[in-house]
Amino acid sequence: MDFDVIIVGAGPGGIFAAYELKRLNAELRVAVFETGHPLERRVCPIDGEKIKKCISCDVCSIMSGFGGAGAFSDGKYNITNDFGGSLHAHIGKSKAIKLMKYVDELNMEHGGAGTKMYSTSGTSIRKLCLQNKLTLLDAQVRHLGTDINHLVLQNFYNELKDEVEFFFDTPVTDVAAEDGAFRVVTEKGEYTCKKCIISVGRSGSKWMESLCGRLGIPTKSNRVDIGVRVEIPAEIFSNLTDELYESKIVYRTEKFEDSVRTFCMNPNGIVVNENTNGIITVNGHSYEDSSRKTNNTNFALLVSKHFSEPFKDSNGYGESIARLSNMLGGGVIVQRFGDLIRGRRSTEKRIEESTVTPTLSATPGDLSLVLPKRILDGIIEMIYALDKVAPGTANDDTLLYGVEVKFYNMEVDIDENLESRVKGLYVIGDGSGVTHSLSHASASGVYVARQIAE
Ligand SMILES: Cc1cc2nc3c(=O)[nH]c(=O)nc-3n(C[C@H](O)[C@H](O)[C@H](O)COP(=O)(O)OP(=O)(O)OC[C@H]3O[C@@H](n4cnc5c(N)ncnc54)[C@H](O)[C@@H]3O)c2cc1C
Repeated sequence: MDFDVIIVGAGPGGIFAAYELKRLNAELRVAVFETGHPLERRVCPIDGEKIKKCISCDVCSIMSGFGGAGAFSDGKYNITNDFGGSLHAHIGKSKAIKLMKYVDELNMEHGGAGTKMYSTSGTSIRKLCLQNKLTLLDAQVRHLGTDINHLVLQNFYNELKDEVEFFFDTPVTDVAAEDGAFRVVTEKGEYTCKKCIISVGRSGSKWMESLCGRLGIPTKSNRVDIGVRVEIPAEIFSNLTDELYESKIVYRTEKFEDSVRTFCMNPNGIVVNENTNGIITVNGHSYEDSSRKTNNTNFALLVSKHFSEPFKDSNGYGESIARLSNMLGGGVIVQRFGDLIRGRRSTEKRIEESTVTPTLSATPGDLSLVLPKRILDGIIEMIYALDKVAPGTANDDTLLYGVEVKFYNMEVDIDENLESRVKGLYVIGDGSGVTHSLSHASASGVYVARQIAE
């Protein structure tokens, strides 16, 4: 055997698995294969001057490389079973929370000390939400911020680089199960191992699906979340963000009784492009460093759709909507809320005259030509509901960027050990379809490492 354990993917799932394996058994020979670059070489070419929009690099440095999709994220580690994945459904609620707290301790030891932990417990905002048909979900949120998150990742790498063999710029093309062991195939060679942990995240979703097909591992379709990213002056949401930093608020629409929820709130943050398999969608993050803060807050409003029969491809549905926005806008579209309500497109002039300065260069357009009516109606209803807890949310100049799509990997059939029916092959993190967040993905890595080390 070349290695005891091979980990495919160096996102939070893979990193925490590698860290815990070496902590528990320094003798283990562990290798990590990663499609993307080492952290210091991960650079997105968009500089805001020469290159303003996504140019669809072969390997997206935002999504791939050491640190995974989380590397340039806001580093919000939510300690909760209420959202961020359903790890608890496999391993139990209290174990899941303990693991997320352990991940938080490690982040503090690796450079995160001094960052703030927010909590919804005892907040009066819950009552204010309930009085306005909104539900605030429970969570503790550690906000590392993009810069400290980066530092923590660098510290993990510095500690691991001499203990673990890293193969960057090396996508794994296949994993074959042979005689109770594994042959991991890459473009640069083949390697054998006793146990294999797959942690390929969202960017590895298509590869994961084909691997499951080859190995006979059952999968089932997952949901897709579709919506917009809202950008407003930070003062409008400050009563929520000052106390909770990120609030997960759910609204049940009157018209269709659909759930619309807030997602990924970034006080004083920026709106960014995201490239998933060549499709440009929108996302957001914010920096802990006060010099990099903006005057705006952004967050997503999302509606979940899950298809089962006869059409099963929820992600395909989301992709088609995102492609439509890419076709009309050449990428992400931005529209003033006032223009949307008046049934007209936004133009460069209207955006320029707006009191909210966009933090992302996007194409002014009309989101009603992109988003299905049911989803758009739900989003509009929710903006009016949020206007009651944060007056000003429904102002004409509120900016809506579209589309934001949260693709979830199909759910891989794994047991309570996160092991597939191919013994010795574990599937963790967002690639398993079970987790959708930094804390859940990291916790799943620790959990599997402990099983293997035992
Ligand atoms: C802009 C942005 C902001 C976000 N902000 C937050 C946040 O604040 N809080 C939060 O909880 N979540 C956030 N998320 C989501 C979070 O980043 C993910 O949930 C988390 O990174 C999942 O970790 P993972 O290890 O499962 O997968 P990933 O982080 O996606 O890592 C998977 C890695 O596997 C590699 N890979 C894929 N296929 C292969 C292959 N065949 N061979 C080798 N390597 C492969 C990829 O290159 C990637 O580096 C954000 C995501 C984005 C994009």
